Amino acid sequence: MSTNTKVAAGTPLTTQPNITLAQSKRHYATEDACKALLRDMRWPDGPRCPRCQSDKVYALKARPFHWVCKNKDCGGRNGYRFSVITKTIFENTNYPLKTWVEVISLMGQSKKGISALHIHRQIGSGDYRTPWFMCHRIRAAMKDEAFPKLMGTVEVDETYIGGKDRNRHWNKQSRQQREAGTRFGFGKSGAIGAISRKGNVVCQMMQHGDFKTYNGFVRKVVDQKVDLVATDENRTYNYLGLPHAAVKHSQHEYVRGEVHTNNMESFWSLLKRGVVGTFHNLSKEYLPLYLAEFQFRFNNRKNPDIFRAILAGCRGRHTGSGLSVVERPIRQGQIAMASIGYHFARNHHAQGKTAFTSSTDIP
Ligand SMILES: [Zn+2]
Repeated sequence: MSTNTKVAAGTPLTTQPNITLAQSKRHYATEDACKALLRDMRWPDGPRCPRCQSDKVYALKARPFHWVCKNKDCGGRNGYRFSVITKTIFENTNYPLKTWVEVISLMGQSKKGISALHIHRQIGSGDYRTPWFMCHRIRAAMKDEAFPKLMGTVEVDETYIGGKDRNRHWNKQSRQQREAGTRFGFGKSGAIGAISRKGNVVCQMMQHGDFKTYNGFVRKVVDQKVDLVATDENRTYNYLGLPHAAVKHSQHEYVRGEVHTNNMESFWSLLKRGVVGTFHNLSKEYLPLYLAEFQFRFNNRKNPDIFRAILAGCRGRHTGSGLSVVERPIRQGQIAMASIGYHFARNHHAQGKTAFTSSTDIP
């Protein structure tokens, strides 16, 4: 954050643990306890078929937490069988649910993000890839797709992550970088975000640094009745058609009364410290997942039960656009090192099988 003047930021992130690891271990010590929790969160009004949404389902006596859907159009003569983890992020994994519960509570607690390696040490999993894989799926569950539009005074700002090469003196840059010149997005990832003072943040990855991208983002996330949109002097913001004021960073102006982008910059620095300090080698592929994670944690900073909030995402969110990615089946063959979460969804999209919508994708 590059500011000389102290400005009252929004409510600071809570440092109070919502549910400690020891607590979650106690509460959900057995697979059955975890399954019961998941069942109650997923179907508060009783189990429904994840395929056809019918409530004409019957519990299989011999197999606890399994049901059969008797809708003929759904499962044919024998009916469609499903379990409590069918079409959730927990499907097609060999990890016990109580391990998932541990990882979820670890991720919910750490405000700066937590590395897969650290989780690996905490849960004592055999393979480092196990927590890495779990974390990405949980991040996919943190995608907050239905958010109210931002009101009041809203700060809009963009940032670039990675590609440190660019900031070096020209003769220390790689040849590749020099030749790329100022081409957008080369060697780094752009993200754009908006924050309502004392309210929520929305951020997403940016593919282009042009007017259409900025404008589209602001229209999507900022309410028309906003009091003020505060930005830096990036000229593309001048055409928003909303009450707008900018500070001139180039002239060392960072705060002019209400006009500043300090809260958004605080969020970016939290993200960068987390991403750079915790997740070495951030791949561009996964930036949307990290953005989702940090956005989710920031917006749930006052939520005393962030653990359950994450778990609620794991069973999928119902939005106007249909089911979210976590409600969709994840295929066995796609559980390889590089084919999880966001990546998985993109693969699916490329095959034209499902649409993937999220607040962290440019429309
Ligand atoms: Zn069904």
